[in-house]
Amino acid sequence: MKKGPVIAIDGPGGVGKSSVSKRVAESLGFKYINTGAMYRAFGLAAKESYVDFKDDLNLQDYCRDINIEYSTDTGRIMIDGVDYTDRIGTDRAGELASKVATKPSVRATLSACQRMLGEEGRVVMEGRDIGTVIFPDADVKIFLDADHEVRAERRRDELVRSGAEPSKVSDILEERDKRDASRQAAPLKQADDAVHIDTSSMTLDEVVKKVLTVVNERLNIGNTGR
Ligand code: C5P
Repeated sequence: MKKGPVIAIDGPGGVGKSSVSKRVAESLGFKYINTGAMYRAFGLAAKESYVDFKDDLNLQDYCRDINIEYSTDTGRIMIDGVDYTDRIGTDRAGELASKVATKPSVRATLSACQRMLGEEGRVVMEGRDIGTVIFPDADVKIFLDADHEVRAERRRDELVRSGAEPSKVSDILEERDKRDASRQAAPLKQADDAVHIDTSSMTLDEVVKKVLTVVNERLNIGNTGR
């Protein structure tokens, strides 16, 4: 049961959820929780532990003993004592994340961790299923969207900024979105009571402002950004 306000920000890949969510959290003085980072770190960690993603029993065993630490102060993510933070930005990590994210045992493990992190409240949590599954009673639910090509361009910029090689971005994004939206367990979809924002022709500043306006309307806390 949550003890304070939770703001859920969901949407497909490349839409800019992280940049928006971080800025919104900063403006409100709330904690920022990136659930995609957890799936990415989990995917890398499981791969390095030779877990067979196709073997549900193997995955369940791995989930049973895993120790996940996510710092809401620094955003650093550790699994079984190994810090994955600096390695989660690659396409490989994204690909592994979206594969393990189809598995109910993995989702149950990470969902429990996400609920624990969020239940104190005063958090902005971003992902794919925050408003639908993790916090269906979130105080504010936002669904960010944008045209495919706009998202591919944003993802390309993000990869370049982080020093990675942007190749086949559009195809990778399309494949991942399809997998996320068509899986049985907590598929990517907008919650019925979420506010849909098409960000295709909006700047980051405009999106942040719009989200803060919605938050202000719902929570009545008088903060509409800089
Ligand atoms: O948001 P990000 O691109 O970092 O997420 C990587 C992958 O993790 C997504 O493609 C999705 O498969 C999975 N994910 C998820 N549920 C979340 C967050 C991420 O299934 N709440």
